[in-house]
Amino acid sequence: MILPCLQRNFPCSKKKCNFKLFINCGGSKVNGSDNEYEDDSSPLGPAGNAISDTWAISSTGSFTVNHNEANYIATNVSVLNASNPELYTEARLTPVSLKYYGLCLQKGDYNVSLHFAEIMFTGDDTFSSLGRRLFDVSIQGQKVLHDFDIVKEANGTGKDIIKTFTASVDGTLEIHLYWAGKGTTAIPFRSVYGPLISAISVTPNFNPTTCDGKISLGAIVGIVVSVCILILLLLAIPWIYLRRRNSKRSEFKGLELQTGHFSLKQVKAATRNFNPANKIGEGGFGPVYKGVLSDGSEIAVKQLSSKSNQGNREFVNEIGLISALEHPNLVKLYGCCIEGNQLFLIYEYLENNNLARALFGPERSRLNLNWQTRRNICLGIAKGLTYLHEESTLKIVHRDIKSTNVLLDRDLKAKISDFGLAKLHEEENTHISTRIAGTVGYMAPEYAMRGYLTDKADVYSFGIVMLEIVSGTENSNYRRKEDMMCLVDWANILAERGSLLELVDPKLESNYSREEALQMLNLVLLCTNPSPSERPLMSTVVSMLEGKIPVYPPSLKPSASKHDDTRPKTFEKLSHDSQLMSGGSVDDSWTHSSVYQVSRIESAILSESRYHSDNVD
Ligand code: ATP
Repeated sequence: MILPCLQRNFPCSKKKCNFKLFINCGGSKVNGSDNEYEDDSSPLGPAGNAISDTWAISSTGSFTVNHNEANYIATNVSVLNASNPELYTEARLTPVSLKYYGLCLQKGDYNVSLHFAEIMFTGDDTFSSLGRRLFDVSIQGQKVLHDFDIVKEANGTGKDIIKTFTASVDGTLEIHLYWAGKGTTAIPFRSVYGPLISAISVTPNFNPTTCDGKISLGAIVGIVVSVCILILLLLAIPWIYLRRRNSKRSEFKGLELQTGHFSLKQVKAATRNFNPANKIGEGGFGPVYKGVLSDGSEIAVKQLSSKSNQGNREFVNEIGLISALEHPNLVKLYGCCIEGNQLFLIYEYLENNNLARALFGPERSRLNLNWQTRRNICLGIAKGLTYLHEESTLKIVHRDIKSTNVLLDRDLKAKISDFGLAKLHEEENTHISTRIAGTVGYMAPEYAMRGYLTDKADVYSFGIVMLEIVSGTENSNYRRKEDMMCLVDWANILAERGSLLELVDPKLESNYSREEALQMLNLVLLCTNPSPSERPLMSTVVSMLEGKIPVYPPSLKPSASKHDDTRPKTFEKLSHDSQLMSGGSVDDSWTHSSVYQVSRIESAILSESRYHSDNVD
């Protein structure tokens, strides 16, 4: 066999598969208590080496005796009290240097145990007992024993001593024993000195793998435990998720409402597969259905139709905004359903549908709203808007206050709905809205014509809704003979004439308070003032409706009795405000011509408008 050049960093020519090593140095194979020690009984001589698949040996040095007398293996059968005495009856001996190599060991830390027993000297009073053996040992080039004296360490001759060290190995392990010229050299005869070792055991400090694809027992145990933990985790995660979901559900009367998310299956079951009989309205978003959940609770399902020109942006906007808002005068959003391209909003269901339908819808769906109820509805809307503008953490301009967006519950309490068009009231972007969104007839003139948006646009729309409530007439559907005039214009004329009460709904007959009606109609004029700065805050409106603050009639400039003259004057004020808003100077000639332009535009818009939202009946 061609022997490779043995050295510590000698590269392994094959895969590093070995992970343990047991050698009975100088002796033949021994079955130890837990492992088999390999045979190392070859005599080697003054300069010899040997190699196997797992280990190699190299011995150097010649005893200064006749070659036939020299012995490189020590033998003494009368040993010992050791646990494995067979390991110590023979020992490898060298005059200078003895190297053992563990070959192709897997990378990692190993325990290296060196077994010694002095079997050449005696422990009695004979000459042989005077011998002294001293040598050094290095492992992986690091000296681990210096002037090592087996007798001294083992407390006598014929006694075993095991020295254990750790070594980092990546392929080759080198154990080097060498004589440093110390001790006796001729007691009891001339070839008794130099390093002597009985056995070597090397065991890994890690979980080794076997190269035949099999995995060691330790590794198998490790893998099995890890797999079990993984399986437990995989089972536990959905279980914990379901438990949490269920506990949340049970907190809320068994409704799935608080989770905020509904499945399409639930929505279909609730609306009887969107049965036309369940349809309660149709808006810009699409149809709205009444639904009943499995536990009997009623919901309103607003379907975002694919043809809707409002689209997903409003949908997401609406979910985010409404779910953050809680007020008795705002319609509660329970959650949403998003599956594929199907989008739905799920609201609390309000039994009495919308205010427009109650006031001026088809005859059979109208409600008989008495004076007090009408006042309460106004107050409810005002409170809801106060919350949006001044009290909620998000400051919100609704932008689409109108009578179809006011819903009535079982007790005819008003709740504001449809926040799809709501826009956050951003500090830095107070003046210019990115997109006009609202309904003709309710939009404040500065918003409709210049895109100037503040909470005062909602105050204007509120004024129109209040006028509709008091009069029982739809603002933009009102036509007075051949005049292209809407109700609010007529209110301004009547105010100048001092006959505002003409506006009160004739259905009320005399069953209302004239004082309160006048107060409310004057408040309408305040809220619909063309100048946003002249309109009160919604909190002020609430105080006025509650009678805490008096409502003074708006100071209208005297004008000719002909309404043709009144409209330009009203818009003159608006134009003046708009000029101030945009920082421009007021140029009389410009103002004059643009006043008429504005007037014409608004008339055109108003004549186009028509009531569209509720056509179910
Ligand atoms: P637009 O979307 O153009 O502003 P809109 O406000 O009438 O019109 P939706 O909010 O979609 O549109 O509502 C349509 C109609 O469905 C309402 O006018 C009302 O009659 C009915 N409706 C909506 N939500 C509910 C609800 N929570 N409870 C009872 N009825 C509702």
